[in-house]
Amino acid sequence: MGQLITRSDLEALDRADPLRVFRDRFTLPEGVIYLDGNSLGAMPQAAPARMREVVEVEWGRDLIRSWNIHGWIDIQKRIGAKIGRLIGARDGETIVADSTSVNLFKALAASLELRPDRRVILSERSNFPTDLYMAEGLIRYLGRGHTLRLVEPDEIDAAIGDDVAVVMLTQVNYRTGRMLDMPRITEQAHARGAIMLWDLAHSAGAVPIDLTSANVDFAVGCGYKYLNGGPGAPAFLYVAKRHQSSVTSVLSGWHGHASPFTFEPSYVPAEGIDRWAVGAPAILSLIALEVGVDLMLEASPSALRAKSLQQTSIFDALVTQEIGNDVVSLVTPREPGMRGSQLCYAYRDAWPVMRALIDRGVIGDFRAPDILRFGFTPLYLGFTELWDAVATLKGILSARTWDRPEYHARATVT
Ligand SMILES: *Cc1c(COP(=O)(O)O)cnc(C)c1O
Repeated sequence: MGQLITRSDLEALDRADPLRVFRDRFTLPEGVIYLDGNSLGAMPQAAPARMREVVEVEWGRDLIRSWNIHGWIDIQKRIGAKIGRLIGARDGETIVADSTSVNLFKALAASLELRPDRRVILSERSNFPTDLYMAEGLIRYLGRGHTLRLVEPDEIDAAIGDDVAVVMLTQVNYRTGRMLDMPRITEQAHARGAIMLWDLAHSAGAVPIDLTSANVDFAVGCGYKYLNGGPGAPAFLYVAKRHQSSVTSVLSGWHGHASPFTFEPSYVPAEGIDRWAVGAPAILSLIALEVGVDLMLEASPSALRAKSLQQTSIFDALVTQEIGNDVVSLVTPREPGMRGSQLCYAYRDAWPVMRALIDRGVIGDFRAPDILRFGFTPLYLGFTELWDAVATLKGILSARTWDRPEYHARATVT
C-alpha cells in the first residue's frame, strides 16, 4: 500500500468483498474478533438445526434403521468425497474417520509396509508434536530398528537419503505458519524412492491443494480447524489409488472389512478407500462436519486464497505501522507463497498479552514459548476487524495492561 492504512480503507474493502456474504452463514458472538479459526473453526449457522434433526428424527425416531434409511453407513465415504474435492483428490481416494493422529498412524504404518527395506521416517523437528509422537509409538511397537530423523525445514531435501522409507511433513507449520512446497518436496521424495505423507491440518480449507497433480501418496487432515466441523470433529485420510490394493490398514477393524455384516471370523479388507475405516463412526460429529464442508465447497478456493493473502498482508502492515517490528517480530515468512493462513509473532510476554487480548474480545492463541498466533479465515473474517484487532493489541502493549496478575495465570488449554 505504501501510504498509511486507515480504518475507512478497510471498511471499503469489506464493502467490496465478494466473500462477505458467507459471514452471515456463521454464528459469531457480538463483540468478538475471531482469529482462532485455525484451531477451532466457527460454528456454521445451519449446524444446530441439522444436528437437532439428526438427534430427534434419525436417532430418536428412526433408531437403528437410520444406518440404511438415512445413509449413516456411507457417511464416511460421502463426506470423504466432498473433502476430496477441496484437496484435489480423485473419486474414492478420501475417507473421513477417527482423528488426525490415528489416520497418521494408519498412513505411516502403510508407508513402512510399502518400503520394507528402509528404516527411516523423515520429518521436521518443529512438526506438530502428535505427528512425531505417533511415529515414535509405531517405531516402538514394530521393534524393527526404525528411526525418526528430525531436521529443519531447509534441511529436508538433503536429508532424503536412500534409507528414508517415508517423508512425513505438515504442509503449513502450526507455530510459524510457514508453508512447504508440496509439489517440489513430493517429487524429491519420489526421486529417492520414498513415500510422501502430508499432514494438511493447517492447510485444508485454508490454501488451495492439489494432491493429484502433486502425486502425493498419503495425506491426513483435520475436520475442526478450517473446515469448521465442530470441536473434535473427525479427521480425513487420503490414499492414492495406486496404493489402494497394495496395502491394508494396520487397524483392521470391522468397518473396513469387505462384508462387515456377514461377521466372518477373519479379516478380509474391503476394496478401495473403505478398508481404511475402523469402527462405528461418530455419526453426530460427522453430521456437524458435513455442514461445515458443504459451506466451504460453496466458496471459490482461489477467492479464499486471494482474500487470505490480502488479510495477512494487511494485518502485518498494520502491525508494522501501528506497533512496530521492533516490538513484536513476525516469525511467519513475509513471502506470500511461503505462508498458510496465519501469522505468528514472537513476544517475550506472549502468554499474558494473549490473555489480555482475549479479555477484550480479540481471540487468537498462544503457542509456547513466546508466540502470539493469529489465524485468518477469509470465509467469515472481515477487513475492518483487522484494524480493530491491531488497535486492541497496540493499546494493551502501550499501556502494559497485560501485566496484571490475572493475565499471568496459566490455563490447561492454550
Ligand atoms: C491440529 C493438528 C493435529 C490434530 O490431531 P488430532 O489427532 O485430530 O487431535 C494433528 N496434526 C497437526 C499438524 C495439527 O495441526
